[in-house]
Amino acid sequence: MERKEHRFNEATRALLAAVTGIPEDLLGRVSVRHRRYNWLHAPWYPASEGGGGLTVGDRIHVTPTHDPATLGNDPERWLRWALLMAHEVGHVRQAQRFGFGTWGRSLFVLWATKNYIVSFFRNGRAAHAKAPFEVDADSGRKELRRWLEFSGGCRADHPVVAWLIANDVPAMERWVASSHASLASRKPAD
Ligand SMILES: [Zn+2]
Repeated sequence: MERKEHRFNEATRALLAAVTGIPEDLLGRVSVRHRRYNWLHAPWYPASEGGGGLTVGDRIHVTPTHDPATLGNDPERWLRWALLMAHEVGHVRQAQRFGFGTWGRSLFVLWATKNYIVSFFRNGRAAHAKAPFEVDADSGRKELRRWLEFSGGCRADHPVVAWLIANDVPAMERWVASSHASLASRKPAD
Protein backbone atom coordinates (compact mmCIF):
# COMPACT_ATOMS: atom_id res chain seq x y z
CA MET A 1 0.00 0.00 0.00
CA GLU A 2 1.19 3.46 -0.82
CA ARG A 3 2.22 5.38 2.26
CA LYS A 4 1.30 9.02 2.49
CA GLU A 5 2.57 11.12 5.29
CA HIS A 6 3.07 14.77 5.84
CA ARG A 7 5.49 16.71 8.00
CA PHE A 8 4.76 20.11 9.49
CA ASN A 9 6.37 22.96 7.64
CA GLU A 10 8.68 25.28 9.57
CA ALA A 11 6.07 28.00 10.10
CA THR A 12 3.65 25.41 11.51
CA ARG A 13 6.31 24.10 13.87
CA ALA A 14 7.09 27.63 15.08
CA LEU A 15 3.40 28.30 15.73
CA LEU A 16 2.66 24.99 17.45
CA ALA A 17 5.80 25.20 19.57
CA ALA A 18 4.73 28.66 20.75
CA VAL A 19 1.18 27.75 21.75
CA THR A 20 1.87 24.26 23.15
CA GLY A 21 5.38 24.60 24.55
CA ILE A 22 6.39 21.44 22.69
CA PRO A 23 9.99 21.62 21.39
CA GLU A 24 10.31 22.10 17.65
CA ASP A 25 12.48 19.01 17.24
CA LEU A 26 9.68 16.84 18.63
CA LEU A 27 7.22 18.55 16.30
CA GLY A 28 9.65 17.88 13.47
CA ARG A 29 9.31 14.13 13.84
CA VAL A 30 5.51 14.15 13.85
CA SER A 31 3.86 12.77 10.74
CA VAL A 32 0.28 13.38 9.68
CA ARG A 33 -1.40 10.59 7.76
CA HIS A 34 -4.67 10.21 5.99
CA ARG A 35 -6.95 7.90 7.90
CA ARG A 36 -7.35 5.61 4.93
CA TYR A 37 -3.95 4.31 5.95
CA ASN A 38 -4.91 3.83 9.57
CA TRP A 39 -5.37 0.34 10.92
CA LEU A 40 -6.95 1.62 14.08
CA HIS A 41 -10.64 2.44 14.31
CA ALA A 42 -11.59 4.36 17.39
CA PRO A 43 -15.38 4.65 17.77
CA TRP A 44 -15.03 6.83 20.86
CA TYR A 45 -13.77 9.78 18.87
CA PRO A 46 -16.82 11.90 18.02
CA ALA A 47 -16.22 14.19 15.07
CA SER A 48 -18.61 16.72 16.56
CA GLU A 49 -16.29 17.36 19.49
CA GLY A 50 -13.49 18.51 17.31
CA GLY A 51 -12.42 15.00 16.40
CA GLY A 52 -10.94 14.35 13.03
CA GLY A 53 -7.62 13.24 14.41
CA LEU A 54 -6.27 10.22 16.18
CA THR A 55 -2.77 10.29 17.52
CA VAL A 56 -0.71 7.16 18.00
CA GLY A 57 2.78 7.93 19.19
CA ASP A 58 4.28 10.48 16.82
CA ARG A 59 1.73 9.74 14.10
CA ILE A 60 -1.41 11.80 13.74
CA HIS A 61 -4.09 10.07 11.69
CA VAL A 62 -6.65 12.41 10.20
CA THR A 63 -9.98 12.17 8.41
CA PRO A 64 -10.13 13.28 4.75
CA THR A 65 -11.27 16.78 5.83
CA HIS A 66 -7.91 17.29 7.51
CA ASP A 67 -5.71 15.53 4.99
CA PRO A 68 -2.81 17.99 4.58
CA ALA A 69 -2.41 16.94 0.95
CA THR A 70 -5.82 18.36 0.10
CA LEU A 71 -5.83 21.59 2.12
CA GLY A 72 -4.58 23.51 -0.89
CA ASN A 73 -4.75 27.26 -0.30
CA ASP A 74 -8.09 27.20 1.50
CA PRO A 75 -7.67 29.38 4.62
CA GLU A 76 -10.84 28.06 6.29
CA ARG A 77 -9.56 24.51 6.11
CA TRP A 78 -6.05 25.52 7.17
CA LEU A 79 -7.42 27.29 10.24
CA ARG A 80 -9.47 24.25 11.30
CA TRP A 81 -6.50 22.02 10.59
CA ALA A 82 -4.15 24.16 12.68
CA LEU A 83 -6.58 24.11 15.63
CA LEU A 84 -6.85 20.34 15.34
CA MET A 85 -3.07 19.96 15.16
CA ALA A 86 -2.65 22.17 18.26
CA HIS A 87 -4.76 19.56 20.05
CA GLU A 88 -3.26 16.40 18.56
CA VAL A 89 0.36 17.34 19.20
CA GLY A 90 -0.59 17.44 22.88
CA HIS A 91 -1.15 13.70 22.55
CA VAL A 92 2.25 13.34 20.91
CA ARG A 93 3.78 14.91 23.99
CA GLN A 94 1.82 12.44 26.18
CA ALA A 95 2.93 9.54 24.00
CA GLN A 96 6.58 10.55 24.19
CA ARG A 97 7.14 8.86 27.54
CA PHE A 98 6.00 5.51 26.11
CA GLY A 99 8.46 5.78 23.24
CA PHE A 100 7.63 6.02 19.55
CA GLY A 101 8.50 2.47 18.50
CA THR A 102 5.87 -0.19 17.78
CA TRP A 103 5.77 -1.30 21.41
CA GLY A 104 5.61 2.25 22.75
CA ARG A 105 2.75 3.13 20.40
CA SER A 106 0.85 0.06 21.61
CA LEU A 107 1.39 1.04 25.22
CA PHE A 108 0.13 4.54 24.49
CA VAL A 109 -3.04 3.16 22.85
CA LEU A 110 -3.63 0.93 25.89
CA TRP A 111 -3.06 3.87 28.21
CA ALA A 112 -5.43 6.09 26.22
CA THR A 113 -8.07 3.36 26.03
CA LYS A 114 -7.92 2.80 29.77
CA ASN A 115 -8.31 6.54 30.34
CA TYR A 116 -11.35 6.67 28.07
CA ILE A 117 -12.98 3.77 29.88
CA VAL A 118 -12.40 5.36 33.27
CA SER A 119 -13.76 8.64 31.94
CA PHE A 120 -16.77 6.86 30.44
CA PHE A 121 -17.84 5.57 33.83
CA ARG A 122 -17.37 9.01 35.37
CA ASN A 123 -18.64 11.20 32.59
CA GLY A 124 -20.80 9.03 30.35
CA ARG A 125 -21.28 10.52 26.93
CA ALA A 126 -18.92 13.35 27.78
CA ALA A 127 -16.12 10.79 28.24
CA HIS A 128 -14.09 12.17 25.38
CA ALA A 129 -14.23 15.84 26.28
CA LYS A 130 -13.79 15.34 30.02
CA ALA A 131 -11.05 12.74 30.13
CA PRO A 132 -8.14 14.50 31.86
CA PHE A 133 -5.69 13.63 29.10
CA GLU A 134 -8.08 15.14 26.53
CA VAL A 135 -8.41 18.30 28.58
CA ASP A 136 -4.61 18.41 28.74
CA ALA A 137 -4.24 17.97 24.97
CA ASP A 138 -6.91 20.55 24.32
CA SER A 139 -4.99 23.24 26.18
CA GLY A 140 -2.90 23.73 23.02
CA ARG A 141 -5.96 24.34 20.91
CA LYS A 142 -7.39 26.77 23.45
CA GLU A 143 -4.11 28.61 23.59
CA LEU A 144 -3.93 28.95 19.80
CA ARG A 145 -7.50 30.26 19.77
CA ARG A 146 -6.63 32.74 22.52
CA TRP A 147 -3.57 34.03 20.67
CA LEU A 148 -5.58 34.52 17.49
CA GLU A 149 -8.48 36.16 19.27
CA PHE A 150 -6.11 38.53 20.98
CA SER A 151 -4.74 39.72 17.64
CA GLY A 152 -7.75 40.12 15.39
CA GLY A 153 -9.85 37.01 15.86
CA CYS A 154 -9.81 33.27 15.34
CA ARG A 155 -10.64 33.73 11.69
CA ALA A 156 -9.49 32.34 8.39
CA ASP A 157 -8.37 35.80 7.26
CA HIS A 158 -5.97 36.14 10.20
CA PRO A 159 -2.48 36.66 8.72
CA VAL A 160 -1.19 33.65 10.68
CA VAL A 161 -3.19 31.39 8.38
CA ALA A 162 -1.58 32.91 5.29
CA TRP A 163 1.88 32.50 6.86
CA LEU A 164 1.15 28.83 7.53
CA ILE A 165 0.16 28.31 3.91
CA ALA A 166 3.15 30.26 2.56
CA ASN A 167 5.50 28.83 5.20
CA ASP A 168 6.53 32.39 6.01
CA VAL A 169 8.85 31.68 8.93
CA PRO A 170 10.17 35.22 9.62
CA ALA A 171 6.64 36.65 9.75
CA MET A 172 5.48 33.84 12.01
CA GLU A 173 8.44 34.23 14.34
CA ARG A 174 7.88 37.98 14.63
CA TRP A 175 4.21 37.44 15.45
CA VAL A 176 5.02 34.70 17.96
CA ALA A 177 7.53 36.95 19.71
CA SER A 178 5.20 39.93 19.95
CA SER A 179 2.21 37.80 20.98
CA HIS A 180 4.29 36.06 23.56
CA ALA A 181 5.34 39.39 25.03
CA SER A 182 1.78 40.67 25.28
CA LEU A 183 0.14 37.41 26.37
CA ALA A 184 2.68 35.72 28.57
CA SER A 185 1.61 37.51 31.71
CA ARG A 186 -2.11 37.08 31.11
CA LYS A 187 -4.27 34.26 32.40
CA PRO A 188 -6.23 32.16 29.90
CA ALA A 189 -9.87 33.26 29.59
CA ASP A 190 -11.13 29.76 30.40
ZN1 LIG B 1 -7.72 14.24 21.77
